[in-house]
Parts: sequence; structure tokens; C-alpha cells
Amino acid sequence: MNYKIAVIPGDGIGPEIVKEAKKVLIEIGEKFGHSFDFTEVLLGGASIDVHGVPLTDEAITTARNNDAVLMGSIGGNTATSPWYKLPPEKRPEAGLLKLRKSLNLFANLRPAVLYNELKGACPLKDEIIGDGFDMMIMRELTGGLYFGERKTVEEDGVMTAYDSLTYNENEIRRIAKRGFDIAMKRGKKVTSVDKANVLDSSRLWRKVVDEVAKEYPEVSYEHMLVDNCAMQLVKDPKQFDVILTENMFGDILSDEASMVTGSIGMLASASLNDTKFGLYEPSHGSAPDIAGMDVANPIATILSAAMMLRYSFDLDKEADLIEAAVKEVLKAGYRTGDILSEGKTKVGTKEMGTLIVDMI
Ligand code: ATP
Ligand code: MG
Repeated sequence: MNYKIAVIPGDGIGPEIVKEAKKVLIEIGEKFGHSFDFTEVLLGGASIDVHGVPLTDEAITTARNNDAVLMGSIGGNTATSPWYKLPPEKRPEAGLLKLRKSLNLFANLRPAVLYNELKGACPLKDEIIGDGFDMMIMRELTGGLYFGERKTVEEDGVMTAYDSLTYNENEIRRIAKRGFDIAMKRGKKVTSVDKANVLDSSRLWRKVVDEVAKEYPEVSYEHMLVDNCAMQLVKDPKQFDVILTENMFGDILSDEASMVTGSIGMLASASLNDTKFGLYEPSHGSAPDIAGMDVANPIATILSAAMMLRYSFDLDKEADLIEAAVKEVLKAGYRTGDILSEGKTKVGTKEMGTLIVDMI
């Protein structure tokens, strides 16, 4: 088969890490007889430098005309960034928000995996983490508190601010279905997280998830209150397979889960709409402090490419092989600087990519 991939190298370490992910995809293509066509798209600072805006309409069209998007990272939060002084709507990140919105990417998937070989980076006790864990957080991305009505009013010299958390049943149903679909490809367990003891929106969430769950008899599922979930993530992370939750809870829980792994350079992510299309990118940012130095860890981006094969192209065997190759390279003792520990072999960005390609 032929697959069309829009590639956004992006800013900071983006171009270096995307290059390694492309190397891995090309190797997979040769091994399994697929062809991947790559079309480069500018987004973020890279687009500002050329077009004066972080995202052009043409770039949106190109992304849409491909089967999936592979992205490095978009950046410029630090004062040293050339785009730092621009107003928010003109900054690199605004381009990414606009692209997500234009492509209707409502489901954000963030795996939090602790590899047996990297257990030392995990802040939890050995008896809690055992041989590691592997969970997937599915966060609703286009509704809830961050997109609800808000206002600030002043009455009798007292300021009051409102934010509203709104979901309709269709929005809940589509994310819930996605969550259960993903669980079918993984450990067949869903933990739906809400605050149904207090919030109406959570009670509706629970009702709709119950309905969707009936369509997936093979998947075991449970409801969990968000405060309990935050606690369980550090108390017993191994219990989770897919965590399904709304926008703000997912924002907070996915950061918590990623920090529990201790390895930001290892974590992939995906944003999906209701077709097979998806945007795949590492969970980390553009890390301008180490850009162009051949030291960035390309594994998060390589694993994002594996997610693309699995979730947009249904190439599960190929995705499994990439994930297995990453594990084997870690087992053989190779590490980029961010995950280096005593007695291991330090390698750069390019060498890490080549080791994974060779392992495949
Ligand atoms: P941005 O403004 O895009 O968020 P950032 O510098 O905040 O950029 P983060 O991803 O938040 O980027 O990373 C924080 C720090 O973690 C980086 O400055 C870098 O030192 C380190 N880091 C992040 N990603 C990687 C990686 N892939 N490999 C090695 N180190 C990384
Ligand atoms: Mg950052």
C-alpha cells in the first residue's frame, strides 16, 4: 500500500528528531512492501520565518490531503526564542492550535510507558512499578472548561470570574467510542474518569460511557473519580490500560502520568478526529536549548510514527516491530543523554535512529 504523510519538522530539535522517525518509516516500508510518500509542511516558527505567519491556508490544505501528519515540535516559549516577543495569536503555538482545530482533532492520546530498562528514572518505589507499566490516556481536546463560556464581572467593587464546563452527549459519545476502540487494540480495559459525585457534566459523561460500553462486551471498564485517579497513578499505575477523560482532567492527569515515567524524551502522542486521519508528535516540546547538537532523544518521535502506523493505517505488526526494536536497543544499553545512567553507552540523535533501524 501507498501512504501519504505530511511531515512537519517544526522548530528547535524538531527537524533532527523527525529525520530519524522518517528513517525508521522508510526501513519499515522496505521490509513490509509499503511506500510512504512524505510531503513537507511548514508550521510554527519555521513558517513565521518564511511566510510571516505560523500557519498558512495552503499548509492546512496540504495536511488535509495527506493520510496523516508526522510532526517534530513547535516552539518558542523561552526568552531566547526568536519568536518570543510576538503577541500570542502570531506565535508558533497558535499555528498548531489552528491546525488542530481545522482538522477537528478532538481526541488526544498520550501513552505513558515505563520500560523495564528505564526503571531507574521513575520516582516510584520498585515494589510499586514491578517490571514497568504501559497506559494510554485518552483526553477530549475540543470541549469542556477550556472552550466553555467565560466572563469576569465586577459588582460593588468585588470581582467575580466564571468558566463553564459543557459537553453534549455527541461529544462524549465520539470520544468514548475512540477510547473503547483503542482499548480493543491494547489491554481491553477502560477507566473512565470524571467527578460524577459533584458535576452534572460528569453525570452525563458517565451515562453516555455506560451506553457506549455495551457495544464493547470484550472490554472491561470502570468509572473512577478524578481525585482518586490522581492518587492511583502514583499508588498503583500498573492497574491502568486506557484512561478516558474530559479535557481538563486529561490535561492534568497526562502530565502527572508522564512525569511518573521520568523520561520525557520517550513519550509519544497522537491527536485524532473521527476518520482514520491523525496528527502524531512527541509529548515534549522543541527544547531549543539542545537544538542542532545531535543530542536530542528521537525515540518519542519514532514511537509517534509507530502510533501512526497503528491508529491511522492499521499496520499493527509494523508498529509492534518498531516498539520491540526500541526496547531491544534500550536493552542493549544504548542511551541518549536525557536517559543516560551509569554503565550505559551514550549515543547521539542520529546514532539512536540508526540503531533502531538496524534492530528492525
Ligand atoms: P517548548 O517551548 O517547545 O515547550 P521546552 O524547552 O519547554 O520547549 P520541553 O519539551 O518542555 O521543551 O522540554 C524541557 C527540557 O527537557 C528541554 O529544554 C530539554 O532539555 C529536555 N528535553 C525535552 N525533549 C527532549 C528530547 N527529546 N531529548 C532530550 N531532552 C529533551
Ligand atoms: Mg515546554
